[in-house]
Amino acid sequence: RKGNVIITGASSGLGLATAKSLAETGKWNVVMACRDFLKAERAAKSVGMSKENYTVMHLDLASLESVRQFIDAFRRSEMPLDSLVCNAAVYYPNAKTPSFTADGFELSVGVNHLGHFYMSRLLLDDMVKSDYPSKRLVIVGSITGNTNTLAGNVPPKANLGDLRGLSGGLSGLGSTAMIDGGEYWGAKAYKDSKVCNMLTMQEFHRRYHEETGITFSSLYPGCIATTGLFREHIPLFRTLFPPFQKYITKGFVSEEEAGRRLAQVVSDRSLTKSGVYWSWNSTSASFQNELSEEASDAEKAKKVWELSDKLVGLA
Ligand code: NDP
Repeated sequence: RKGNVIITGASSGLGLATAKSLAETGKWNVVMACRDFLKAERAAKSVGMSKENYTVMHLDLASLESVRQFIDAFRRSEMPLDSLVCNAAVYYPNAKTPSFTADGFELSVGVNHLGHFYMSRLLLDDMVKSDYPSKRLVIVGSITGNTNTLAGNVPPKANLGDLRGLSGGLSGLGSTAMIDGGEYWGAKAYKDSKVCNMLTMQEFHRRYHEETGITFSSLYPGCIATTGLFREHIPLFRTLFPPFQKYITKGFVSEEEAGRRLAQVVSDRSLTKSGVYWSWNSTSASFQNELSEEASDAEKAKKVWELSDKLVGLA
């Protein structure tokens, strides 16, 4: 049978390119989990995906109730769940004040980390039930959360500190909206959320890989400077960023190439190792990359997991 893979945020950028790449093999039914139903349908058509290879289902990661509704709808479809890709993200590099999810969490960490955390915690059971031979849970990471890289050292750097903001609920009330309890900075909130994504993947691996056989992985797909992620940036940045990445840092990858990379992490037979953060070199060969000290801190991963469990109501 075909594999079923849920991809969050498959209506644009990396998620859409990955959906296309998997759909066109004819071996996958891609469940495009998107907040804008019509946009997702149009996006699938625009890249030439054929109807029998995808299903669009509504999901807004900025609401835990919406995550529950998505899971109910998915379960009603009676499709087995073989792989899950947590890809959606928001980035507010210029925001001066925080915005919040329906449950009152600062939006970047709320969507990128807590929404996905809740969703994958609940869907793990569904994946366990599937008889698919190579099941994978992939959480998209980023170089920007990795302070052991050049890009990860561009200020503001990711830093989760002692997690006091996270334990305070990221509500911006009383405490603050940032994980480390510091002042709100949109660019940093995004990077912090990506560190949480990479820590969550490793904690999943430690807790569940042996027992379930599921492969847990993360990746840095390369700098896809053309996606909607940079939509909130000033126009001059959006004009100069793609050529800067292409000609100066040479980190640029097209959406198609990045989509092929993420599709490999979902389905390639050589990428079944669990607990790994994948990257690609300049000839597009995959390799197991090192994470920064904070993004591989097992003690912090455990704390982030426990605090996140409390915030989404699982503990
Ligand atoms: P895009 O902005 O193109 O895609 C993000 C997707 O997330 C969109 O489909 C968007 O939906 C969706 N989304 C945003 N908020 C929500 C929400 N509340 N509920 C459901 N879906 C939501 O960016 P990219 O493709 O670049 O980003 C994809 C992933 O790649 C992210 O995890 C990002 O951190 C990562 N990444 C990107 C890099 C880059 O250079 N671009 C580099 C490294 C990692 P909609 O279409 O409705 O806006």
